[in-house]
Amino acid sequence: MAKILAIGIATLDIINTVESYPDEDSEVRVLKQHQTRGGNATNTLTVLSQLDHDCHWAGVLIDEPDSKAIVSELAHYHIDTSTCRQLATGKMPTSYITVSQQTGSRSIVHHRDCPEYSFKDFQAINLSEFDWIHFEGRNIDDTRLMLQHVTTHFPDLPCSLEIEKPRFNIEALFKFPTTFMFSQHYANAHGFDDAISLLKSLPANTTATCTWGQQGAWAISNNGEIMHNPAYQPLQVIDTLGAGDTFNAGLIHSLLNKHTLQQALNNACQLAGHKCGQQGFAKLLSNFIFQ
Ligand code: ADP
Repeated sequence: MAKILAIGIATLDIINTVESYPDEDSEVRVLKQHQTRGGNATNTLTVLSQLDHDCHWAGVLIDEPDSKAIVSELAHYHIDTSTCRQLATGKMPTSYITVSQQTGSRSIVHHRDCPEYSFKDFQAINLSEFDWIHFEGRNIDDTRLMLQHVTTHFPDLPCSLEIEKPRFNIEALFKFPTTFMFSQHYANAHGFDDAISLLKSLPANTTATCTWGQQGAWAISNNGEIMHNPAYQPLQVIDTLGAGDTFNAGLIHSLLNKHTLQQALNNACQLAGHKCGQQGFAKLLSNFIFQ
C-alpha cells in the first residue's frame, strides 16, 4: 500500500441522459438523471483507494450543502480530506452534463465560484509522508510552484501530472521530471492528429502517456521509446465518463509497483476498459484482475 496525495478539484456532477441533444430554445425531458461526485483528481483517488492505497485529497471545500454529498462520498472510499482548505462562502464546482443516448456524446456546462488550491495551502502539507503526488494540469502558476517545491525539496518523490485541457502557459510545466498523462483532447487542440506526434514533440527525456479512446493509449519512455497498447473492450460499453481518470490510476498503481512503462500502459488500458463496462466507479475491482 502506498500513501498517495492528489491535488485538484472535486465537483458535483448532475448527469441528464436525453434521447438526443436538444436544439437551442427547445424543451426536452430527461430519460434518467443521477448526481455524482466528479473531478479528475478525486476520480483517480477513488480508483486508487480500491486498489488498496492510502489516498489523500488536497483541494478546496466550501461549507455549503453540496460539499456534504462530496465529502461523504469521498469518506465512503476512505479518502482523507484533512489537507483540504475549508472556506465559509462560495459554491462547490458543479458540472451539468447532458448525455445524448443517440450518439453517446456528453456536453458539459460548468459553474464555479470556488478559488483554486494554492501553493500556500500546499506548503503546509508534510510531503515526506507520501509515496506519490498526482497533480491536475490546472491553476498553472501555483502548480508550477508546487512542482518546483517538490523537485527542490523532495527530488526522489515520484509525481504525475494530468494534461487534459489546453490552458494558457501549461507548457511551462513540461520541464519538470514527472510522468505526464496527456489526453486526446489536448493533442487535437494543439493540431496533433495522433498520439505519437504529440509524444515526439515533448522535451527530451520526458516520460508521458497519451490516451486515445477506443484506440487505447501510447507512451514515450524517458529514452524516447514509443509504445502502444490497444483498448480492452468490455462486453458492453456502459459509461466512459472518467475512463481517463481510471487509466491514470492504473498507471500510477503499476508504476508504484515498479512495473515497466509498457506493463503499466497495459494495466492502465485494462482497468480503463473494464471501467467503461460499468456505471461510475463503485465496486470497480469486484470482478476484475489484471491479466
Ligand atoms: P477521457 O476519459 O479522458 O476522455 P479516453 O477517452 O482517451 O480518456 O479514455 C482513456 C482510456 O480508456 C483509453 O486509453 C482506453 O484504454 C479506455 N477507453 C476509453 N473508451 C473506451 C471504450 N469505448 N472501450 C474500451 N476502452 C475505452
